[in-house]
Amino acid sequence: MGKISVYRFLSAGCNGCDVEILECLVPRYKLADLDVEVVERPEEANVLILTGGVNIKGKEELLKIYEAINPPRIVIAVGNCALTKEIFDKGYPMVGPPDQLIPVNYYVPGCPPRPQAIVKAVADILGVKIEETEDYWLAPEGFRGKHEFDSEKCMGCGACAQICTADAIDVIDGPDKRIIRVNYGHCSFCAFCQDECPTQALRLTREYHLLTSDRQTARVANEVNLVGCSVCGGVFFPQKQIDWALKRIVEEKVPAYKDFSSDILSAMMICTKCRREIGSIKRAKKLLANLSERARKL
Ligand code: SF4
Ligand code: SF4
Repeated sequence: MGKISVYRFLSAGCNGCDVEILECLVPRYKLADLDVEVVERPEEANVLILTGGVNIKGKEELLKIYEAINPPRIVIAVGNCALTKEIFDKGYPMVGPPDQLIPVNYYVPGCPPRPQAIVKAVADILGVKIEETEDYWLAPEGFRGKHEFDSEKCMGCGACAQICTADAIDVIDGPDKRIIRVNYGHCSFCAFCQDECPTQALRLTREYHLLTSDRQTARVANEVNLVGCSVCGGVFFPQKQIDWALKRIVEEKVPAYKDFSSDILSAMMICTKCRREIGSIKRAKKLLANLSERARKL
């Protein structure tokens, strides 16, 4: 593609991504080694790097800039705001994200992305391999990057989604499966989800290369089986979560309840709607009476 001349455009972001892009220009990050220069005017550019979610004022400017840049007119959206508007999503002056206004070819999720992620993205787009030492790529100890699910341990409880203030985790129930899905473009890599997970099934790794040409694929997901209600048959709950809860009750919390395992399991296998049926209430009361009796004898 020859020399890359990049024009930067920021609209409605915190500037964090912009700072990281500037960081890429220092010798340590090698952007200049890829024959990339940052230009002052869009007419001098053939690549547009965008940060921010675009507000009303920025919209006209962005459209003018896009028209002014030269072929092949590659547009790279850097950072979460440029993917989804992120924390600015509900702001009244917002009109983005940018790909609703102009074609975007590549996305680099992150809040903000590391300079290495931006450099690697540019190198990948150019088809250039960057030879660097491990030190260059390795994120520091404790770095919070891409999520990794342990599919054996994840029970689909959704606690990670509930704690996520960025609304970055979806819990999607299908006919017989539940999908837990982390959406980059919203995630701020705070790791609250990791800390909240009761089974340590979710981990933020040191992986940070998230370049994609389709922002719908900037995700990591896990799938668990759902079971049907023992009364009405309607699908309602992850099997693994029921098994985990039962184990906690009869093995960790109150081992004396072990004799009632099958009764407790039967009660757990009833959906919230069927639990309101008179027969279910009577059975639950009888079970509670038996458990109380056992507790008194301890
Ligand atoms: S990752 Fe942890 S918190 Fe999230 S659904 Fe799985 S088990 Fe629950
Ligand atoms: S790290 Fe987890 S809790 Fe934090 S924003 Fe991302 S998905 Fe949400």
